[in-house]
Amino acid sequence: MASQFVESIMGQVTMRNPGETEFHQAVREVAESIEVVIQKNPAFAKMKVFERLVEPERQMMFRVPWLDDKGQVQVNRGFRVQFSSAIGPYKGGIRFHPSVYLGIIKFLGFEQIFKNALTTTPIGGGKGGSDFDPKGKSDNEVMKFCQSFMSELFRHIGSDTDVPAGDIGVGGREVGFMFGQYKRLANCYTGVLTGKGLEWGGSLVRTEATGYGLVYFVTRMLQDRKTDWKGKRVTVSGSGNVAIYAVQKIEQLGAKCIAMSDSNGYIVDEAGINLNTVKRIKEIERGRIKDYVGEHKKAKYVEGCSGIWTVPCDIALPSATQNEVDEAGAKALVKNKCIAVGEGANMPSTPEAIQVFQDNGVSFGPAKAANAGGVATSALEMCQNSMRLSWTFEEVDKRLNMIMNAIYDQCTQAAEEYGMKNNLVAGANIAGFLKVAKSMMAQGVV
Ligand code: NDP
Repeated sequence: MASQFVESIMGQVTMRNPGETEFHQAVREVAESIEVVIQKNPAFAKMKVFERLVEPERQMMFRVPWLDDKGQVQVNRGFRVQFSSAIGPYKGGIRFHPSVYLGIIKFLGFEQIFKNALTTTPIGGGKGGSDFDPKGKSDNEVMKFCQSFMSELFRHIGSDTDVPAGDIGVGGREVGFMFGQYKRLANCYTGVLTGKGLEWGGSLVRTEATGYGLVYFVTRMLQDRKTDWKGKRVTVSGSGNVAIYAVQKIEQLGAKCIAMSDSNGYIVDEAGINLNTVKRIKEIERGRIKDYVGEHKKAKYVEGCSGIWTVPCDIALPSATQNEVDEAGAKALVKNKCIAVGEGANMPSTPEAIQVFQDNGVSFGPAKAANAGGVATSALEMCQNSMRLSWTFEEVDKRLNMIMNAIYDQCTQAAEEYGMKNNLVAGANIAGFLKVAKSMMAQGVV
């Protein structure tokens, strides 16, 4: 049964944000975890720290009109939610996907507050996006859209105010088009976006960072079970930025990825997925994952996404989208003796799925800790931009590894301190919240 604190928060959040189910889900999880912290620190309750945190500092919703290749006018909706600047400028990606609406951006922005706090770098939380679908659009159409999107967004962001980055549907191409338009409108060359190209202010390792960071985090989960990646069978959902570089790193560490997916279906290759083929199909040809089986005859393709969790594996890295692992998926993983789940995507497991993992002794690395490597490396990109310097691949990778280890330590220590040993969900929420809450207390009622 939910407590009075959680019920009161959820009553307020659902009333003020009707229909935003993903946002409600994200708030409930954090509220349940941090209740013990509020009980121990009555000043947080008195100063309504959490009640303030669930209300974004500022949210923008705007029209994005653009001309397609046929000369026809198209209209999309743009969003930027600036959630919390308690510990630094707002920071969080931009998502272009037809499913985007305010509730998705708010769930992502809310999660981002705690994730960013865990990274040990001084960045606040925010998120943005649009219901624009880059799939099937020409480069020219994507450019027109990005320029129109930035024509409104530019007045709300800045290298010390709000620093967006990529997310689903926003990679190097889109960041480039948005950066070009920002520079033109603001007449200012500054590190206002991260995920930039290496020739114009980007950081080495940023492309790989979320996937690599995820694997560094799960490495610690495996160490706690006295094992490692060698010889493990791994299922990775998605075949985008996070998934591809997670697979690259697990291969370097001696594991084999046997299944990957996109939003239409999944492939299984018992010989081990050939990552070069996936990279070419997804990154260069912008094709579909099913094209893989045309080249690798022993691999099979299955239409539909959810079946991927029924493929027997030792470790699962859901790296596509929110709520992609439900209770049935989690039970299938448990049945097949999966020992660890690390979330590459944001909130990919439903609350019921997380419960199944925790009840069955599966090591579970929650998104806001396990996938924080991307934003952490974005913070390193901001740092290099401010210094007008570029670090080597090895230097950035070393820092990323140190940060992921520091995140793991914070999560395990917080969980233990608050009587929930090994519960990384609670540990991540508590450690992230404490840093933000203390900053809010110091800064007064703002
Ligand atoms: P990409 O756009 O590069 O790739 C997304 C992948 O997930 C694609 O394979 C896509 O398939 C699939 N996908 C997207 N939506 C759905 C859906 N509704 N159902 C099933 N599959 C879907 O995005 P990223 O790899 O950057 O992001 C993946 C996840 O990781 C997201 O949750 C994102 O928020 C999170 N994340 C990303 C970070 C980053 O640095 N990029 C940082 C931290 C978290 P298709 O091609 O068919 O659309």
